[in-house]
Amino acid sequence: MGDCFFCKISSGEIPTEFLFEDDKVVAFRDIDPQGPFHILIIPKEHYTSIKEVKDKSLTGHMFSVGNRVAEDNNIENFRYIINTGEEAGQTVFHVHLHLIGGRRMTWPPG
Ligand code: AMP
Ligand code: ZN
Repeated sequence: MGDCFFCKISSGEIPTEFLFEDDKVVAFRDIDPQGPFHILIIPKEHYTSIKEVKDKSLTGHMFSVGNRVAEDNNIENFRYIINTGEEAGQTVFHVHLHLIGGRRMTWPPG
């Protein structure tokens, strides 16, 4: 995926500070944070959306990494979001798990 921005972030082509990195995923701060703490957890491998990710160990790992980064940053209450498809608010078509915390949340989301 030569022109995918998040592939360039995860490969290091675009220098980005990672809060977590291993061979499967990276976590970094959202450029337009929707709360005091807003990170994205993405697989290094390119998948357009969560619907393409058939590997349950990868989806599980993304959540484990989110839990760990939240704990490392003393974020006890947070929300996970995976926007899937344009109508659901997906704007970047490399799957990413949002973790937003540090403020009171309302329900339902808009
Ligand atoms: P979504 O709308 O669910 O596809 O989320 C895409 C997210 O990526 C948005 O929250 C953007 O603020 C975020 N984003 C876009 N470009 C960057 C970037 N260069 N670095 C960090 N986050 C980004
Ligand atoms: Zn990509």
